[in-house]
Amino acid sequence: MNRRSFVKAAAAAPVAAGALAAPAAGATFETKILRLNLLHTWTTTMSSSAYRDTLHTAYTRDGITGHGEGAPIVRYHEDAQGAQKAAESVRDLLLSANPMQFSKVMGEVFKRVQGEWAGKAAIDIALMDWVGQKLGIPLYSYFGLDPKDTPLTTFSIGIDTPEITRQKTKEAADFPILKVKVGLATDEPTIEAVRSVTKKPLRVDANEGWKDKEEAVRKINWLESQGVQFIEQPLPAEMIEETRWIRSRVHIPIIADEACQRASDIPKLKEAFDGVNVKLDKSGGILEAYRMISIAKSLGMKTMLGCMVSSSVSVTAAAQLSPLVDFADLDGNLLIGNDPFHGVTVEKGKLMLPNRPGLGLSK
Ligand code: MG
Repeated sequence: MNRRSFVKAAAAAPVAAGALAAPAAGATFETKILRLNLLHTWTTTMSSSAYRDTLHTAYTRDGITGHGEGAPIVRYHEDAQGAQKAAESVRDLLLSANPMQFSKVMGEVFKRVQGEWAGKAAIDIALMDWVGQKLGIPLYSYFGLDPKDTPLTTFSIGIDTPEITRQKTKEAADFPILKVKVGLATDEPTIEAVRSVTKKPLRVDANEGWKDKEEAVRKINWLESQGVQFIEQPLPAEMIEETRWIRSRVHIPIIADEACQRASDIPKLKEAFDGVNVKLDKSGGILEAYRMISIAKSLGMKTMLGCMVSSSVSVTAAAQLSPLVDFADLDGNLLIGNDPFHGVTVEKGKLMLPNRPGLGLSK
C-alpha cells in the first residue's frame, strides 16, 4: 500500500461505525429559522438589508436543553434553508449519540456535512451549551478561562451617509472603541463623519473592498493618521501575496477575516497578516474556533473573535472564548430589535459573561 492509498483507507475507516444506537428516550433536536430585525439597515461592501435570517437549534436530553444558532454567510454561498437542511440531516446521529462525547460527535458531523458552516455551528453550540449545563459549569470554565479576562468589544458602524454615520457614532457613546465599515467609494467622508463626533480609537474593516494594492497602502496610511488601530481584510481573500506586499509598507496590523475561514487556512496567512478574525459561523462552532485561536497563537499571530448579525445565542457562545483573544467584535446581538434570549452583556465596552452553566442564556 503506497502512502496515498494508506492515508485514504485510514480516513475512510471510521465511517464503518455507521450502525447507530437507538435514539435516547426523551431526546429531541429542533431546528427553526428566525428572522432578526435590524435596528438600522446594515450595509457593508457585500450587501444591504433590514433583517437577517439565522438558524436556531434546541437539543434536549435528560431534561436539559442546549440552544444553538448559526448565521449563514452569503459570502460563502450559504442561506438559512441550507443550514437547516444540513442540521436536519444529522438528527438521527445527534439523538442516538452520547453528547458527552461531543468531540467525537462533531467530528462525525463534520465528516457527513460538506460546507454549511452555519448549520454546523448551530449544532456545535447547542451541544456545548448542553454539555456545560450537564456539568453544571459555564463554558468559559470548561475551557479553563477567567471571565475577568474578557476584552472590550467594538461596536460596529455600517456604511451609510455622513449624517446617519454621525448619528450612529453618537448612539455608540457607551463603547470606548468603534469598528467602522469601509471599502466603498465613501471611505474618507465616512471616517471624517465619525471623527467629527468622537476621538475614540477606531478599527476599520474594508471587507475585501479595495482591489488595488497601491490604493490600499494609501488608504491604510491615511487611516493610521486618523487614529485607526488596525485594518481588517483590505483586499480580496485570494490576494494574499498582494496583502503581504501591503503589510511591508504600513505600520498598523492587518487582520484576516474573509481570507481565514477555517483552521487549515491559518498557516498560509502568517506572512501576509498580523492576526485572524475567528467567527463561529465561519468555523462551524466553538470547538473549531478554539482550535483556530490555538493555531493562530502558536504561530505568533494576534487573535480576534467576531460575529455576524445574530442573536444572543451565537454571540454569547463566541464570548465564552473571548478571554483567550486580543480583540473582540461581538456586537451582532446589539444590532437587532427582537433578540429571543439574554446572555452576554456589555458594560462600557467590556464583555460581561453570565455566571450560569453552559452558555448561561435566559429568555
Ligand atoms: Mg470583517
